[in-house]
Amino acid sequence: MQLLVDKFPYKTLEDGSCEMLKDNQCSVYEDRPLICNVRLGGKLLGVDQDIWYAMLADGCNTLIREAGLDEKYLVSLKK
Ligand code: SF4
Repeated sequence: MQLLVDKFPYKTLEDGSCEMLKDNQCSVYEDRPLICNVRLGGKLLGVDQDIWYAMLADGCNTLIREAGLDEKYLVSLKK
């Protein structure tokens, strides 16, 4: 996973967002990096989809808390 992050091709802006995020949508969605393709990443790694999504949500929430962002940005998975 770390390798995927190391090769991320886009810059992070001062507010922490990706430079390719335009009007709250990915402007390169069809050609987005593998790390951004949540569904495909889990399949490639052979991880059960529910477990994969829970892992990603946990990682995102850790980053959100570490950045001191408002709790309204926390990821909540529907069950
Ligand atoms: S999906 Fe990936 S490339 Fe697209 S805006 Fe989000 S972080 Fe950037």
